[in-house]
Amino acid sequence: MAFHASILTLYPDMFPGHLGTSLAGRALERGDWSLEAVQIRDFAEDRHRTVDDTPAGGGAGMVLRPDILARAIDHASPEGDPRPRLLMSPRGEVLRQPLVRELAEGPGAVIVCGRFEGVDQRVIEARGLREVSIGDYILSGGEPAALVLLDAIVRLLPGVMGNALSGQSESFEDGLLEYPHYTRPQLFEGRAIPEVLTSGDHGAVARWRRAEAQKLTEMRRPDLLAEKKFHGE
Ligand code: SAH
Repeated sequence: MAFHASILTLYPDMFPGHLGTSLAGRALERGDWSLEAVQIRDFAEDRHRTVDDTPAGGGAGMVLRPDILARAIDHASPEGDPRPRLLMSPRGEVLRQPLVRELAEGPGAVIVCGRFEGVDQRVIEARGLREVSIGDYILSGGEPAALVLLDAIVRLLPGVMGNALSGQSESFEDGLLEYPHYTRPQLFEGRAIPEVLTSGDHGAVARWRRAEAQKLTEMRRPDLLAEKKFHGE
């Protein structure tokens, strides 16, 4: 069964967004993955199809109601659905490649996109929503975050990337940032391609890339190296 994403949103028109183009878009057309955007508003019961209300205890903004969201979730993901249920949320676990890989290896995901001040805590608990953040900044809604998450997942799905190998040597896959890339022309504004890369010596190329990746990671992301050590590498 191909990876199936159900997105719960007040803005279904935002999907598939950029994932309808390029390699992800072609994979979507082929059925290598599928996406369904569910309008949360369709599960409101009043005449105005209201989905939010004022926060208990006072304060700014509005909060998505738990009953309406729960109905939308139960519709998109009935009992027995094996897919994990996620809520895009700045309070969540920050998205990193191991979680992307874990999700890509599974049957799909049900992804709730918040709006306003967020969603009522009780529906998060009652429907076991796993909160996922795409970084320490605040978006106006969960939709762009869901698109980022899906983008990262879809490119790992079998058959999606033209070059299957290039999914393996990216930044983060081995706990290091990626080495620098070069292509023609040989000389660009007085800057030459490092000699070793045109030497034809594959062993030397591999050693140079490894050393550059190490150097770059030490300089920019020492936290990644500390983590590698922690995991006993
Ligand atoms: N009041 C909340 C922010 C709400 S932003 C707070 O301070 O935590 C509105 C919605 O945008 C959220 O419910 C969430 O779905 C989405 N969102 C905002 N920033 C995000 C981030 N960094 N990662 C994932 N989703 C985010």
